[in-house]
Amino acid sequence: MTDDELRLKSIRYRRDLLRIIFQAGAGHTGGSLSCIDILNVLYNRALRVTPHTFSDPNRDRYIQSKGHSVEALYVVLADRGFFAAAELETLCRYQSPFVGHPTRKVPGIEMNTGALGHGLSISVGLALAAKRDGADYRVFTLLGDGELAEGSNWEAAMTAAHYRLDNLTAILDHNTLQITGRTRDVCSNEPIDEKFRAFGWNVCTVDGHDIQQLTNALAPRSRVSPRRDSESRRDSPTWVDSQPTCVIANTIKGRGVSFMENSVKWHHGVPSEVELQQALAELDDAESALMEAVR
Ligand SMILES: [Mg+2]
Repeated sequence: MTDDELRLKSIRYRRDLLRIIFQAGAGHTGGSLSCIDILNVLYNRALRVTPHTFSDPNRDRYIQSKGHSVEALYVVLADRGFFAAAELETLCRYQSPFVGHPTRKVPGIEMNTGALGHGLSISVGLALAAKRDGADYRVFTLLGDGELAEGSNWEAAMTAAHYRLDNLTAILDHNTLQITGRTRDVCSNEPIDEKFRAFGWNVCTVDGHDIQQLTNALAPRSRVSPRRDSESRRDSPTWVDSQPTCVIANTIKGRGVSFMENSVKWHHGVPSEVELQQALAELDDAESALMEAVR
């Protein structure tokens, strides 16, 4: 699949997640829009897992630690064939497995998450198990930047480096917002790159909406080549193969819909009918422009 085909997919994913959130009357709109390009590249280019191999012990694992952005995960899993897209019409309905955080009742989901600060610890355990078993699967986890205030992340970060878990990649959805405001105002975690490096991790920084940069950082066996930011180059000139990797993905909360971008209101804002139509129209325009550009 070409980069442009993945860019078109991202637009369609955005449209789908807005529709299901509107229909359910609940959801985490802003964070789902900020991480959807990351999930697109993960599931279409990086992860070795399909509906048919989901019970294979050697499949790659993905743990969505920022579980509240599950609507993004649902639309990508549906697109990859883990379940029928029509099932998402039951989101948040009584007895539906499609609830507001990931659960293992949904095909393709590895772990119940959403209580923040646990996904990285779980991922460290999975990556360590791979090492102990002599397996070559990789483990990916997606963290929110507000989530880094949970101290358990730093215990897990320390442990991952101690066990030299180079099969582990943590992706940070660095949208600089959390539920109550700017992360720097609530509990500043900067400089994140220097913190992870101090804990013994490889760190690279990418545009979290750029398909090519995300591919370089996440695609199989490309971990020796991600472009490193100038800070990391200055502090640590060599890429260390025996270290876990943190990909800091600079993103925009609400990305793709003008009136949702960079607004704390849309952390779990649900669009009205009028707002939905406006958002879908913007995405239609973006799709038309992209198709015109690649024609
Ligand atoms: Mg955030």
